[in-house]
Amino acid sequence: QEDIFKNVVSHAKEYGFIFPSSEVYDGLSAVYDYAQNGVELKKNIREYWWKSMVQMNENIVGLDAAILMHPTTWKASGHVDAFNDPLIDNKDSKKRYRADTLVEDYCKKLEDKAKKEIDKAKARFGDAFNEEEFVTTNARVVEYLGKKKEILSRLAKGMTDDLQDVKALIEELGIADPETGSKNWTDVKQFNLMFGTKLGASAESAMDLYLRPETAQGIFVNFLNVQKSGRMKVPFGIAQTGKAFRNEIVARQFIFRMREFEQMEMQFFVRPGEEMKWYHHWKDTRLKWHLSLGLGKENYRFHDHEKLAHYANAAADIEFNFPFGFKELEGIHSRTDFDLKAHEKYSGRKLQYFDAELNENYVPYVVETSVGLDRMFLAVFATSLQEETLEDGSTRTVLKLPAVLAPTKAAVLPLVKKDGLPEVSRKIIEDLKWDFNVAYDEKDAVGRRYRRQDALGTPFCITVDHQTLEDETVTIRHRDTMKQDRVKITELRGIIENEVSM
Ligand code: ATP
Repeated sequence: QEDIFKNVVSHAKEYGFIFPSSEVYDGLSAVYDYAQNGVELKKNIREYWWKSMVQMNENIVGLDAAILMHPTTWKASGHVDAFNDPLIDNKDSKKRYRADTLVEDYCKKLEDKAKKEIDKAKARFGDAFNEEEFVTTNARVVEYLGKKKEILSRLAKGMTDDLQDVKALIEELGIADPETGSKNWTDVKQFNLMFGTKLGASAESAMDLYLRPETAQGIFVNFLNVQKSGRMKVPFGIAQTGKAFRNEIVARQFIFRMREFEQMEMQFFVRPGEEMKWYHHWKDTRLKWHLSLGLGKENYRFHDHEKLAHYANAAADIEFNFPFGFKELEGIHSRTDFDLKAHEKYSGRKLQYFDAELNENYVPYVVETSVGLDRMFLAVFATSLQEETLEDGSTRTVLKLPAVLAPTKAAVLPLVKKDGLPEVSRKIIEDLKWDFNVAYDEKDAVGRRYRRQDALGTPFCITVDHQTLEDETVTIRHRDTMKQDRVKITELRGIIENEVSM
């Protein structure tokens, strides 16, 4: 698995998808730049999300709020007081970890042990196996899962009441530094994840600001502006994509955990009391959206939260099977009226909605869907990157991106660099480029050019040869099957359109 992950990182660099930030200065940790192909893939994912949210839903509109916001925003949202990571250091190795993650990883191991027992029994009993019954009656499984539940509830309590209880839990369970095995821990300390900056020129008059750690608050503070100017009726949603910043401590997994990243969030405003209905609706809808990309149903699972954030009354993650295991890709949260009420309190302004049907004023409840664009990128990219062994025993590297997301939709390749073939190729590009990103390549043998386009994820290669000069036909090669068809130049647009349209 580690090798797969290394391969992903190096492929992303070699083929112009992702570079480390400011690499000439040896990079900046957990910050990355999207290169010529990466920026296209990222833009296509963003667009795919935006269309499904804004264009396809009459009652969802877009917003692009500023990254810098009035500092009181973050007081009201709870980020100044509560956006902390509980950190613990190992005294011997001097390595730093999130205390809660250490405990959660321990619980994952318990869960894995239970799963092993279940799988063993499944193999033994075959069709007659009743998992539900087994989980509640098998002594070992009951013990593992019971212990896990007990630990998580103690963790949740420690996180809210007294962080040193979390330390005590770590020591009691004998949790060791995952890298060195040492069990010599410091106390747990809180560390705020927001990046501070200053607004204004002179030292005295400057105002302390934060770079936003989430895009959601830009939506909340604009709730009434959008509702009034758009004459929106509850239930309605506001969608936004944009950068967010977090001073992450444990940031080691490429673009999975970055210090500067992009979110795609939608806040859905509903009648109080109807939030659970909408929470389930959006859980469902968002999973379907992910599945529509065809990366494999088995790569997704829900994780319902037992430990809820201060603003939520229900929360779930959609987890994805990344090269380093199942991890959060998207969060769906029922945020109650926490945010709007808090902004009312701190601003002194009413953030209420008049519901004409009920003849009543209220602060709406909010259901949020929040997905990391960079994590989507990693999910799509890592899953699409495949090594294939061909019939003749040779191998090829192919990036089987969903065609709708591919950076370049077609590459036009003159078989040779003479006899007027480059000119015909250019003419085809001139015609197609109004609708699709198309590339031209005349360097190297055509087989090598195919391989290069495979590695870039280009769904189609169009080859212009001498026959083209006679009958205005070309070959079109399909990336995934490597099948080649002879078609008329005039048919190209339709064939490409059919595969790549959203
Ligand atoms: P995690 O538990 O992984 O830190 P989170 O629960 O703090 O994530 P949210 O605050 O719910 O994340 O943010 C919503 C989404 O934003 C996440 O599901 C994830 O896809 C993305 N995201 C959050 N933090 C980062 C980060 N540091 N780098 C990249 N994406 C991120």
